Amino acid sequence: MYQEHIDKNGIFTQTLKCVEELGELSVALMKDLKGSTDFNNIDEEIADVSIKLEQMLEIYKNSAKVNEYRSKKLIRIGVL
Ligand SMILES: [Mg+2]
Repeated sequence: MYQEHIDKNGIFTQTLKCVEELGELSVALMKDLKGSTDFNNIDEEIADVSIKLEQMLEIYKNSAKVNEYRSKKLIRIGVL
């Protein structure tokens, strides 16, 4: 889905943008924890991070392994 976008912008840039988006979500969540909640900002940053994580799965071509870890962790916390 993102391969053309990744090819156009480069793996380094897309990975850097993922790190930046993770930071932006951290800031939004910290603001919430400190009582300065902006739900629109949280929604937007979660969307940004979810897109970037999907791109990371394409870059690292590790969906199967990530899903394996995901299942194990969901079982461990009792939701699967
Ligand atoms: Mg963002």
